[in-house]
Amino acid sequence: MVVVGAGPTGLTTALLLARYGIACTVLDRRAEPWPLPRAVHLDDEAVRVLQAAGVSDAFAAVSRPAAGLRLLDARLRPFARFRRDPGPAHHGHPASNLFDQRDLDALLLDAAARAGVVVRREVAVTGVATEASGSPTVAIRGPAAGTTARLPAAAVLGCDGADSTVRQCIGAGLRDLGFTQRWLVLDVRCGEPPRGGWDGVDQVCDHRRAATFMRVVGDRYRWEFRLFPGEDAAELTRPRSVTALTAPWFAAVPGAHRDLLRGAEYTFRACVADRWRVDRVFLLGDAAHLTPPFVGQGLGAGLRDAHNLTWKLAAVLQGRADDQLLDSYQAERAPQAEATIRTAVRIGRAMTGGNGAAAALRRPIVAALLRLPGAERRALAATTTRHPASSVVDRHRHPRDLAGTCCPQPFVWSAGATVRLDDVLGTGYSLLCHGPVPADLRDRAHAVGARTVRLGQPGARGLDDPDTTVEENPTLAGWLRRGRADAVLLRPDRVVMSSSRGPGSRSRPTWRVSRTDLG
Ligand SMILES: Cc1cc2nc3c(=O)[nH]c(=O)nc-3n(C[C@H](O)[C@H](O)[C@H](O)COP(=O)(O)OP(=O)(O)OC[C@H]3O[C@@H](n4cnc5c(N)ncnc54)[C@H](O)[C@@H]3O)c2cc1C
Repeated sequence: MVVVGAGPTGLTTALLLARYGIACTVLDRRAEPWPLPRAVHLDDEAVRVLQAAGVSDAFAAVSRPAAGLRLLDARLRPFARFRRDPGPAHHGHPASNLFDQRDLDALLLDAAARAGVVVRREVAVTGVATEASGSPTVAIRGPAAGTTARLPAAAVLGCDGADSTVRQCIGAGLRDLGFTQRWLVLDVRCGEPPRGGWDGVDQVCDHRRAATFMRVVGDRYRWEFRLFPGEDAAELTRPRSVTALTAPWFAAVPGAHRDLLRGAEYTFRACVADRWRVDRVFLLGDAAHLTPPFVGQGLGAGLRDAHNLTWKLAAVLQGRADDQLLDSYQAERAPQAEATIRTAVRIGRAMTGGNGAAAALRRPIVAALLRLPGAERRALAATTTRHPASSVVDRHRHPRDLAGTCCPQPFVWSAGATVRLDDVLGTGYSLLCHGPVPADLRDRAHAVGARTVRLGQPGARGLDDPDTTVEENPTLAGWLRRGRADAVLLRPDRVVMSSSRGPGSRSRPTWRVSRTDLG
């Protein structure tokens, strides 16, 4: 298996495949990981993917939960606040996590080395072709001048970022969702905390100079400033300009020491690839989608791609599912990625767009909207979509049906210890039950080798002889009750394939799936 790109998406993909026993070679044209400032935020679902890749503890050691998001006016006065609980959220990790992408790159590289993933640097992929046999071949250029070679691969995973060569090779285009803005990104080390008292993210809603500000980790701070046509980023990263740009934050701490660690200009865009797969060549991460960073979801979407595709690819390559299963990758991922990008564009425009009058109106409107019940939760919720019906997601039978949605991950008590649910579920399919399981769902679970996990009293063994029992858990019991389900069949990525209500009701998919479809 060849992974193109040793960014966070490529390395996570290789780690997830290693867990299914699939060896990968990761190729990257750069000698070192990307040195410039980039991602600083991941949500709980993205960290759950890192957990599946075996690195969430290492990630927790280099990140911190964020207190939430504030909206500030041009004079840096807060007019809306969305708090985030630092404890575990729906997916078992803090809802909002701040970190430095270079720390994540480093820990993923360490984990890859331990997992036996081969990472070859200064190797550029120059072409990808599908042979008559249906398998792809990758053309590469090595570090020594003039060295070229062709590598055969069972599949090629294009995780090669925004300017993806793999995307060009498969003839995929980028659909523009209508957003282009230049921003200046500054990472600064500060001796004194500027404007202390709040440890979340600040968004300055000022159409004259929109900005984002946060403490990342330790004494490292991130500012992002919108640039205007004709503004020169190189000029704005000179020490005097940095001091002037960040001065409003230091009004209360004059003379505070600040070191510019890195400054870079980025053009934020909103695009989605029109094809994510041709034969056994796939696009993941920034190669497949680009988003402005207003909701901190660009890398998170890449990690979700990796989680969605790797178990399917493993099942197909290991002969447990037929090739059709791979069609569900784009069908499931593209709508979610596009919905997230559109949310980021909307939020970005609402926070930063408009003329003076519109900007003046924004503050009371946002403040009033936030007083509506549930507004905070809705505004902060990551964009989640239900996966469409397919051979691995039953058609939902009522609006609350859990099929196609993701199972929560509480801490559970199992085998004498408190652990996260996914650690009990394992790496394959699982049947999670809190009541009787209809025979057809049990048969489907058996066909895919699912591990049976029952909610109940430890040691109590029921008719269905669970592999594991986890103690009654209010989060899981409440989730099943709201979804009117007694049992759910979970895919390896924790998406509900089928849910059922007890022996009287059938788990009935809308069409029959063959054993091989099930993976
Ligand atoms: C200022 C900024 C702030 C951001 N903030 C956030 C945030 O808070 N949260 C978030 O989730 N996301 C954020 N993002 C987005 C996030 O940084 C990206 O989504 C993420 O880096 C994408 O990872 P990737 O692995 O898909 O691609 P990349 O990290 O770009 O990695 C691609 C790799 O492929 C290699 N490569 C490219 N072409 C070839 C080739 N032909 N042959 C071999 N190798 C090749 C490159 O050298 C590179 O190492 C931000 C981005 C920016 C710019």
